[in-house]
Amino acid sequence: MDPCFRRDDTEVVVEPQQYQLSQVTDSFTGQSVDTARRTLTARLKRGAVDSAELDARILVGAALGLDLTGLIAAAARLVTAEEAGRLEDFARRRLVGEPVARILGFKEFWGLPLQLSPATLVPRPDTETVVELALEMWGGARHSSHRSRIADIGTGSGAILLALLSELPAVFGVGTDISPAALHTASGNAADLGFAKRSAFVACDYAAALSDGFDLIVSNPPYIRSAEIAGLAREVRGYDPPRALDGGGDGLDAYRILIPQSAALLMPGGSLVLEVGLGQSGQIQRLMAAAGLTLESPAKADLSGVPRAVAGRKPPR
Ligand code: GLN
Repeated sequence: MDPCFRRDDTEVVVEPQQYQLSQVTDSFTGQSVDTARRTLTARLKRGAVDSAELDARILVGAALGLDLTGLIAAAARLVTAEEAGRLEDFARRRLVGEPVARILGFKEFWGLPLQLSPATLVPRPDTETVVELALEMWGGARHSSHRSRIADIGTGSGAILLALLSELPAVFGVGTDISPAALHTASGNAADLGFAKRSAFVACDYAAALSDGFDLIVSNPPYIRSAEIAGLAREVRGYDPPRALDGGGDGLDAYRILIPQSAALLMPGGSLVLEVGLGQSGQIQRLMAAAGLTLESPAKADLSGVPRAVAGRKPPR
């Protein structure tokens, strides 16, 4: 091969081998673990990934099968060709917008490891606010001797339902979803967490297949206005299932169906706890009141201060 020429201040001759090396400084092959982490951080920063450092650490850890402590201990060793290949695949996917949780296929929610699938949302930390408010409502009710039942409408990965089952050991939970693929993921998560005997999963539209007698119903329904979907972050728009996001023209379509359905399914004294989108809490509270539910507490804010979870209680007999 002829030598390659590069024009800087002066024309220099670069040996072919050296030239190739300079072309592959972004590759992870032959790098130490620590250098690979820095290389990936720099590549993600150049690709305008917000959380470049954290993402790089998680992805290098995943490509090498190491946790943070393991990564630090391995900092000086060289990455193997196989690890470099895996890391390159992860890097390319992250750079086109695929979220870290989708690349790993799992996300932690309420301290529980949950498998994901293309049919499920990535559970958000915001949604833990729904779990908190649901537990407060649960604590504020008297529970009789019957086996309490809870339901999660549009359960996705099962996040809210499984978090509640982890906190309420005597309770039986039902998750619904319109997507059989999501239900497959949710029931797999329930089994992995040891909740198989305390849960059931039903394919239906919202709560259509359920019959009455629930002490608590929760949901994180689709609530984004249709016109706003295109403007969402690429991580959301390109990877979360549209059905789990799109709430129709004003974002409230799902609530109009599931609030009256849920009010009819609740036991006296039972409560409905819903995640809501930015600026929707007042409208959702009005829909709950119109369905005969009593508002006991203001909307609960998430960690960013956004009113995120709304609760209503069915009047006790
Ligand atoms: N929280 C999600 C988002 O902001 C939306 C989830 C939903 O529509 N329920 O992207």
